[in-house]
Amino acid sequence: MLGTMMNVPLLVSSILRHAATFHGSTEIVSRTVEGSIHRYTYADAWIRSQKLANALQRLDLQFGDRVGTLAWNGYRHLELYYGVSGSGLICHTINPRLFREQIGYIIEHAGDRIIFSDLTFLPLLESLADRLSSMKAIVILTDEAHMPKSEILPNLVCYETLIADEPDLFDWPVFDENRASGLCYTSGTTGDPKGVLYSHRSSVLHSMAISLPDVLNLSASDTIAPVVPMFHVNAWSLPFAAPMVGAKLVMPGPNLDGASLHSLFESEGVTFTAGVPTVWLGLLDWMEAHHQTFSTLKRMAIGGSAPPPVMINRLETMGVTVRHAWGMTETSPIGLTATLMPKHADLSADAKLTLQAKQGRPLFGIELRVDSPEGRPVSRDGKSFGAMMVRGPWVASGYFQSPKSPAHETDGWFNTGDVVTIDADGFVQIIDRTKDVVKSGGEWISSIELENIAHAHPAIQEAAVVAKPDERWGERPVLFVQLKPGARFSRADMIDHYTDRVAKWSIPDDVIIVNELPHTATGKLLKTAMREIALKQLASHGVAE
Ligand code: ADP
Repeated sequence: MLGTMMNVPLLVSSILRHAATFHGSTEIVSRTVEGSIHRYTYADAWIRSQKLANALQRLDLQFGDRVGTLAWNGYRHLELYYGVSGSGLICHTINPRLFREQIGYIIEHAGDRIIFSDLTFLPLLESLADRLSSMKAIVILTDEAHMPKSEILPNLVCYETLIADEPDLFDWPVFDENRASGLCYTSGTTGDPKGVLYSHRSSVLHSMAISLPDVLNLSASDTIAPVVPMFHVNAWSLPFAAPMVGAKLVMPGPNLDGASLHSLFESEGVTFTAGVPTVWLGLLDWMEAHHQTFSTLKRMAIGGSAPPPVMINRLETMGVTVRHAWGMTETSPIGLTATLMPKHADLSADAKLTLQAKQGRPLFGIELRVDSPEGRPVSRDGKSFGAMMVRGPWVASGYFQSPKSPAHETDGWFNTGDVVTIDADGFVQIIDRTKDVVKSGGEWISSIELENIAHAHPAIQEAAVVAKPDERWGERPVLFVQLKPGARFSRADMIDHYTDRVAKWSIPDDVIIVNELPHTATGKLLKTAMREIALKQLASHGVAE
């Protein structure tokens, strides 16, 4: 017997409609690429999204067509989120930080029909002109006064002109909630980027789930500043969650330096923000140098990579509650948050910090399993390692145009590629990426643990540990370091530093000193390149000191 409740589909358009109807005067404040601060309301955003949806219809796009965006966090990008997805098209957010070649590949692979771009990215688009010839339009997100001239792309369209004369009302289509709403490519340290195709249902459910008190705890009393970019995993869904709960939204535009973020947070009364550790490091250093504090910020979500415990501590000391979160492009992204439980209230500050530095516990909607190398569940003792597998309504079941990807051929679970421990309460801690863990003589050595220890050495600016093949042990760890200016570091120093900190068999065999460690376009260590260097250098010179 079926239930007798209404079968109303979960559609992205319903979120902004709700905000416009019941939080219509709540503000959206954006720092624009042109430099000024722009201010309007959810009611205004709803009207302009409808104008945009009408304009897209006039351009004769078909249901399911992809519309590319190359834009910072701002009100026009927000209108694209709703105007594009809400009208049945797919909003393809392109990450401008990827390599030019990857961006060209992504645009072609996605089959984008139109691109909407901030002024900032015009040179990038010009450099890709030969790959854009089949676009219906390239629209610049600005007004006529700021429209650039381009000899390479002569037919640029001005966004404000495109929507100016369109009707304020759009007949939002109602369709199956499983239809695609958004597309985001993973940066991919190996192989081509892969497209993750979100559905209306997954976007709405994920946004509701992350708003819950023990996840990000969002409400209409908040002023939310998504610092994590809208071109990367939908800014962790905050452009959906904020209007869903009726919170004021503050968009930082292209200015992500400490001074700009601090002044925006203070002037707009931001209470909640979210971003990756690197950005917060910049903000905290700037604040320390300028003797600044936060007067309104209460909570901060940090994820994408692990925040160092000292960062969590610095923020908590300033009165900001840190919500450490784990996620991936494939998980929309949020799957875990390190929120303390009532029984932790009386723990010492250090013990609380240890828990907060873990990647966290699954939120409702995410099923989680940790498999040993033999495929059996590991014990929940906080020590045994295994591969983290997840399943749920906002986890990808395949990739755009390659639905049967190997990552998903595991009885319907998604293998995250993270090697983790899990404790009795379900707190997960990342030990390593599957491809980075060093498998030595039947034991797993965590490259992350060795890197963290290296970072504590005063001579070391940045460190990375990779596996090199070894006849006897299978693999052995090698340490790569970039030294601080003028510093010295030898193999003997390395052995000294690791002795007493890790088991003897975990100490790296060699150290290779480089001028700069290789990174991916999104700032993650590029270990594939280092493995090649390790192989070559060690083959020709033996041990480097
Ligand atoms: P993103 O680009 O948003 O980091 P990706 O899908 O490219 O997303 O990368 C996801 C990977 O990033 C995860 O599998 C994990 O290894 C790492 N990651 C994400 N959040 C954290 C975190 N809080 N701590 C440590 N690693 C994290």
